[in-house]
Amino acid sequence: MSEALNVPHVASGDLFREHLKNETELGQEASAYMERGELVPDSITIAMVRERLSERDCDEGVVLDGFPRTVSQADALQSVLAAQGRSVALVAYLEVAKETLLERLSGRWICARDGQTYHLPLRPPKVPGRCDICNGALHQRPDDVPEVQARRIEVYMEQTSPLIAYYEDQGLLVKIDGDRGIEDVESAILEAIQRIELGQVP
Ligand code: AMP
Repeated sequence: MSEALNVPHVASGDLFREHLKNETELGQEASAYMERGELVPDSITIAMVRERLSERDCDEGVVLDGFPRTVSQADALQSVLAAQGRSVALVAYLEVAKETLLERLSGRWICARDGQTYHLPLRPPKVPGRCDICNGALHQRPDDVPEVQARRIEVYMEQTSPLIAYYEDQGLLVKIDGDRGIEDVESAILEAIQRIELGQVP
C-alpha cells in the first residue's frame, strides 16, 4: 500500500520495536506491555505516533499500520489530522478467521536488519533463515509465542474491535476478506485505494 501510494508505512509496533532496539526510555516502558501482549498505554502510544506524523516525509499522507487500536487513539488521530487540515481517507478492515491468524503468527519470520516479513510455508525466503533483500538473519518475534498470541487476540476483541463500528459509522470502513492468499488480499486493498483516489466512497 505504501509503495502504491508513495507515502511512508508507519507501524506503531515497528516504532516501539525501534525504541526497544535503541534502548530508549520509551522502549523500556513499552516492552513490559509488549511482552505480555497488552496494549501500551494510550498516552505513550499517541505521543509517539503524533511525533512520527509531524515528520516531513508524512506531509503527503501515510499508511498507518497497527494504529489506532483503541477508540481514544482514533479520537486523538482525528484531532491531530484535523489540526493539520487532513483526515482519514480509508480504513481497511481485514477479516480473518482466528485459526488463520494463529497460523500466520506462528509461521512469521522477520529480518532483524530491515524488518522484511516472511512466512513459513506461505512466503518463504529464497535462502532459509536469510532475508531476500539484505541477507540479514531472520528471527521470530518474542510476542508471536502461543501464550502471547492468544492474549493479543483477546485484547483485540476487547479494545480494538469497537473501532469497526466507529469507522463504519463514519463511512470509512472497507471490509476485505483477508482469509485468502497474499496476492488476492493485496489487490482487494489496492482496488479500495483506487476507488478513493477516483473520489468514490470507500
Ligand atoms: P504489532 O507489531 O502491531 O503487532 O504490535 C506489537 C505490540 O506493540 C502490541 O502487541 C502492543 O503491545 C504494542 N502496540 C503496537 N501498536 C500499538 C497501539 N496502537 N496501541 C497500543 N500498543 C501498541
